[in-house]
Amino acid sequence: MIFIGNHLSSSGGFLAMGKAAIALGADTFAFFTRNPRGGQAKPIDPEDAKALIKLMEENNFGKLVAHAPYTMNVCAAKEDIKEFSRNMLADDLDRMQYVPGNYYNFHPGSHVSQGADVAIPMIADAINFAFKEEHQTTLLLETMAGKGSEVGRNFEELRAIIDRVELKDKVGVCFDTCHTWDGGYDNVNNFDAVLKEFDDVIGLDRLKAVHLNDSKNPFDSHKDRHELLGEGTLGLDALKYIVTHEKLQGKPFILETPNDDAGYKKEIALVRSWFN
Ligand code: FE
Ligand code: FE
Ligand code: ZN
Repeated sequence: MIFIGNHLSSSGGFLAMGKAAIALGADTFAFFTRNPRGGQAKPIDPEDAKALIKLMEENNFGKLVAHAPYTMNVCAAKEDIKEFSRNMLADDLDRMQYVPGNYYNFHPGSHVSQGADVAIPMIADAINFAFKEEHQTTLLLETMAGKGSEVGRNFEELRAIIDRVELKDKVGVCFDTCHTWDGGYDNVNNFDAVLKEFDDVIGLDRLKAVHLNDSKNPFDSHKDRHELLGEGTLGLDALKYIVTHEKLQGKPFILETPNDDAGYKKEIALVRSWFN
């Protein structure tokens, strides 16, 4: 079995997200630690966080997969954006202490015109600056589609970042099915080979969570546009194969499909039906 859920709005607080997840049939969820377009984070009510932890225990939730805002770019060419992003990463990891033992996923960044070889040490340096021994969170780097100057376009780039991180034991990867497909990994015809490559380059023990999306674009297109499950170029057979793969059991799967609540409810039920 896997855990399945989707992105929820954090505007009503932690407990409200837990309840919303249950209403959708979910047993994990993702949330933006602050407005996805950036800005100031709301103060956390410790009692609200505790209430969510209790609800999660009572309902056998899997690990949560928090997501950093899209504006975060710790390898930005502009010094002020880079500095702002590094501080945001540090602040988010402090805030995650209210819900310890979960995942915090972020996009490695965009190197703009500096090149990945310049950006990779910068990303690792930002992690080493922000991520402390006392943090009870596993930091996840997301596999990216390689659009524009995105870093993390292949497994080798993620490995190169991890190699430079001090707290390696607390770093993993979030595998996005749309991004990797768009990035040139054949999740449709040879997912076993993709996992083998992941294992050879990064190590499968680092694969902690999955973003479960179909794709609007063809294999190797480097585009990154998510599609509803079964309506894109991956298709239901491939997605079912991934979800039920023995090496991915027990992990949180997060839907990032272009959906409303009714649509998410249907997709969550569909994914669960693959285990019957
Ligand atoms: Fe993402
Ligand atoms: Fe994603
Ligand atoms: Zn995406």
